[in-house]
Amino acid sequence: MIKIKYYFFSVILIMASKFGITQTEPLSKNPNIIIILTDDQGYNDVGFNGCEDIPTPNIDRIAKEGVKFTNGYVTYAVCGPSRAGLMTGRYQDQFGFSRNPIFSPQDPEMGLPLSEQTLADIVKSAGYKTMGVGKWHLGAHAGLHPNVRGFDEFFGFLGGGHRYFPEEWTIEHESEAKGEGGSYRTKIQRNGKPVEEREYLTDALSREAVSFVKQNAGHPFFLYLAYNAPHTPLQATEKYLSRFHHIADKKRRTYAAMVSAVDDGVGLLLQQLEKSGISNNTIVFFLSDNGGPEQDNASDNGVLRAGKSSFYEGGIHVPFAMRWPDKIKAGQVCETPVISLDIAATIVANIRDRVTVKNELHGIDVMPIVNGTVKNTPKRTLFWRRYDTQEHIARQGNGPFKVLLKTNKKELYNVNEDISETRNLFEENQHKTVREFLVKELEEWKMKLKEPAFLGLVKEQMDEYWKQRNKRTP
Ligand code: CA
Repeated sequence: MIKIKYYFFSVILIMASKFGITQTEPLSKNPNIIIILTDDQGYNDVGFNGCEDIPTPNIDRIAKEGVKFTNGYVTYAVCGPSRAGLMTGRYQDQFGFSRNPIFSPQDPEMGLPLSEQTLADIVKSAGYKTMGVGKWHLGAHAGLHPNVRGFDEFFGFLGGGHRYFPEEWTIEHESEAKGEGGSYRTKIQRNGKPVEEREYLTDALSREAVSFVKQNAGHPFFLYLAYNAPHTPLQATEKYLSRFHHIADKKRRTYAAMVSAVDDGVGLLLQQLEKSGISNNTIVFFLSDNGGPEQDNASDNGVLRAGKSSFYEGGIHVPFAMRWPDKIKAGQVCETPVISLDIAATIVANIRDRVTVKNELHGIDVMPIVNGTVKNTPKRTLFWRRYDTQEHIARQGNGPFKVLLKTNKKELYNVNEDISETRNLFEENQHKTVREFLVKELEEWKMKLKEPAFLGLVKEQMDEYWKQRNKRTP
């Protein structure tokens, strides 16, 4: 657990000898922060994890010029709760965000509870400019809109996904959209207002991200770039499809085109950082919000077992990299498990100004691990809960073992030796100590968890939700 640190800074005057004048540097040298989140991208679908049929040279730059995390996790196996964990730096089950929210602009409770600070709120307390681009999925009600959750600017959409071609955006405003399907067809919005957008969605999101960086290069900023690609529906333009004639499977070809569009966007963004002269002091994180649903979007989780929705590795073990040239040497590989919660903790620990953090963060600063300045891997356990099936999972942060508990199922895997989780070691006596340790850790963690704050996207729950709502508002 990270202790809240308060850093004070002083205005630094430097002699800009080149110009023979005295310049005042920006108030501090706080790093700029960019989080690039993709949606439903498989572990194996980036070049830095060995992907062969989809080149991702720009995404790979983040890993090659920084650090690749080979054991990078997210806090849930589907979009909504995973984003809630990332955006708060806290286990979402500790504040009841335990399901994918139902798209319901009328409902102030259907999303990220107001008790929670977002990462944007946190960095804003240190004077950062903030922008969210792309998929929100943390509440469609006006009281949960990104603009009231710490983001100065927002360009994107509020639901769990979106269609990619502007001609399909036939619903003027998100408040008129009925259910999740309707939300996929709304016009893209800027700060709550529909805009006339003509570009392929992924290109439009990249353009906005680049423009924000260009305009704010002189001031510390936080950019949350949440692509909905390569989440379904599988839709790509000829520009990107034409790069993948070598892929025979149509689904995989379209998926590849969508990933390639993201990669182009990442390239433009990295270029803009260089043009603006802020590349070295900008932290860029890259990760996917959960593992690939291989059947749905033709993603590939490689040797990992299962995929999206599952708490085997394929659902929660994602492509994960970080670049910060000022502080991280190029070409690092970090095998120590990290989790998306660590992003908030790392940001807070590395901002030099005073940062106000209201709630306890559950991650750790990864910088000492990445730079090898700590001797021993921090002792911690990573946790997951899937409420509706009563599954509880724990993984050692400083060891190879992972336990999965369900009513009628008890499993233990050594994920270092058996990353595909094929040999259940739970009953083996030689692992009694670690098994008992992880079970006890889970029992203690479970005491901190809340009941879900809302019903979710599963059909039965949605039916129940609309039945209750219709009763309230006839
Ligand atoms: Ca997702």
